[in-house]
Formats: sequence, C-alpha cells, structure tokens
Amino acid sequence: MHALLVEDDDRMAQALGTALARRGHTVRRVGRALDALRHVREAEFVLLDLGLPDLDGLELLRRLRTVCDAPLIVVTARCEERDIVQGLRAGADDYVVKPFRMAELMARIDTVRRRTDRHSGRHPDTGTAHPGGGRPVRTGDVEVDPAARTVTVAGSEVRLTRREFDVLAFLAARPDEVHSREEILDRIWGDAFLAASRSLDVHVAGIRSKTGRPEVVRTVRGFGYQLGPPPARHERDGES
Ligand code: CA
Repeated sequence: MHALLVEDDDRMAQALGTALARRGHTVRRVGRALDALRHVREAEFVLLDLGLPDLDGLELLRRLRTVCDAPLIVVTARCEERDIVQGLRAGADDYVVKPFRMAELMARIDTVRRRTDRHSGRHPDTGTAHPGGGRPVRTGDVEVDPAARTVTVAGSEVRLTRREFDVLAFLAARPDEVHSREEILDRIWGDAFLAASRSLDVHVAGIRSKTGRPEVVRTVRGFGYQLGPPPARHERDGES
C-alpha cells in the first residue's frame, strides 16, 4: 500500500521508511505540513508526527481529516494524556508514542488497515453473527443504522468518526448485553494494546458528546459498556 510519512526528523523518517518498504509498502516522506496536505489524497494510510516545523501537528491532523479518510496513526514524542486524547478526537485511528518498538507500530498499521479494508466494501462487519444484524436499532431518540453507517438523534444525522460509529454499532447489535472492554477492543481495534484501551474511553466520550445523549452508552464500572436504555427508564450512569 502507499503510505504518506509525515516526519521532519531525517533519522526517524529513514528508519520508518525502511521498515515500511520491507513490508512491501511504497512511501512518500514529507517533512512539512504543507507538503502533507498536498500529497495526502494519494495515501492509503498516513503516519503523522505532531512536532512539525511549519504547523502544529494537531491542526494539521484536523485539516487532513477534512480531505482524507485514510487510516492515520499519530507517531509522536508527545506523551501527555491530553495530547493523546486530542489526537484521537481529531480523527487519528491510533497513537504511538516515541520511542516505540518498530514491530509494534507495524502490527498497529496492519490492524488499522484491516479494519478500513473491511469497511471500504460498504459492507460493515460490526454486526456479524448478531441477532438483528444490519437493521437499524433505536434507543430513545437515537437511531443507529449499521447498513447505512448513520446515526440520527431526534431525526438529525450526527457525524461520528469511523471508529466511534463502530463502537456504537457494536453495542447496538446486542443491546441487551454488557460487553467487556476486552471484547470491544478485540472486535473493534483487533487487539487489546494498552494505548488502544485508552482509545476506547476517548471514543465513548466522543459518542456521548457528539450525540448529546450521554446515556446512549452505559458504563458498567470495572467491566465494560452497554447500549444505554431509552431516557424514560434510564438510571444514573456510572461514569468512570
Ligand atoms: Ca518532529
């Protein structure tokens, strides 16, 4: 696949470029945000360093996301919780903090690509082998349509990121069941790496704030999540 590598550090770029080429990818490396925007449309996946000379990486991430939906992994020395949360909210599929192990990064790339490959055929797989899979699910005034990949709240469509939608659709496929964090991470992320585990909370927070219906995902403290009941019979949510 064709990768866009946005990295201003030559040594890091060379190490990453070599590792990617060894796995059969073609790579365009750019060191500036401006060039990243110029070349992002040709990319099948993106590795993005946040510390760039000409533009804040998070700002670049937001701009890239307006023109490109390719899988994107942030690779950065910034390890503050706040940076990670902002990166994921801005549309990153995953987040790897430097220094990282190359094998782990390559495994994450494979995971992110597998997920997006599955979705590119317009046949999302979030409902596989689930009762009622494929049909819209309603809870309160929130409707999740796994076939159309849309979420509406009180009849108006709400735009979730691909992964936020995957999490919500997964919960909606079996609304009566509580899903453990491990199960969700395994099904949606394809692994249960520690950083991905933090991603789950960030994505749930995104679902709650974008729908304006915090009760749509119910936290089962110390275990996992469930699709929230309609507001009429909803109990206090144990927010973690
Ligand atoms: Ca840098």
